[in-house]
Amino acid sequence: MSAAFVTRFAPSPTGLLHRGHAYSALLAYAAAQAAGETFLLRIEDIDATRARPEFEAAIFEDLAWLGITWREPVRRQSEHLDDYEAALARLAAEGLVYRCFRTRKEVAQAMASAPHGAMDTFRSAPLPAEEEAERLARGERFAWRLSLKAAQARLDGFEHLTFQEEGAGPNGETGLIQARPELGGDVVLARKDVGVAYHLAVVVDDALQGVTHVIRGCDLFEAAHVQRLLQALLGLPTPVYRHHRLLAGPDGKRYAKRDRAETLQALRAAGVTPEQLRQEMGL
Ligand code: GLU
Repeated sequence: MSAAFVTRFAPSPTGLLHRGHAYSALLAYAAAQAAGETFLLRIEDIDATRARPEFEAAIFEDLAWLGITWREPVRRQSEHLDDYEAALARLAAEGLVYRCFRTRKEVAQAMASAPHGAMDTFRSAPLPAEEEAERLARGERFAWRLSLKAAQARLDGFEHLTFQEEGAGPNGETGLIQARPELGGDVVLARKDVGVAYHLAVVVDDALQGVTHVIRGCDLFEAAHVQRLLQALLGLPTPVYRHHRLLAGPDGKRYAKRDRAETLQALRAAGVTPEQLRQEMGL
């Protein structure tokens, strides 16, 4: 029997959590509790160069301090690379992805040299077979990119792709949203270094974990458009989205991982209590 309400908090252990993370986690936790249902914690640690065990340990500690409990086991993305590979293989078998050998710099250059306004997101095409074979033979590394063109053909356009937004996007978008995956361009689904990338891992995990409600900051609203497309291509269910506002500090700027003084660890050390935080956040 599948639960009616499953949500998750999915931090990347690449820094210490700050007030913005606390807000997101508390909102998701409260929603799960109100529904009498499940709250999951997922550690998004595919970026092996930036993820660190001490940040993961800090996540557990900070959440426990906030009074949040989660259903075990915690899903750690780095332990499930097979799942992402299988999904990628499925897309590849249908010709929905292509190899991209470009460096970041080359991608930036390609975008900069496009006629003004013609390309604000990267879109490309597979290399001619011969050139690709040569590069592979030379051992050149490549990323896998989603082909919007192939996806569009496969789905007969994106017009029928929608998702339910119970919160709001950065411009107040709410209700039934028409997905516009073209906003993201031909996104990378598998990075050169780790063989998977954010969007693919999130979509696969949300489905495998039976997530029914994605509650996260509205900075990820655009991601939902891309993720909706991946769900359609992989035949996965679409969760309901609840994007929330981003907390801003006294200077009006949103909290970021670099604001050392605003980490939950620092606040705790300064004697701030979880109750105070909740009150400040209007929770
Ligand atoms: N791991 C992402 C982050 O820390 C969140 C992913 C998601 O909620 O979909 O920003």
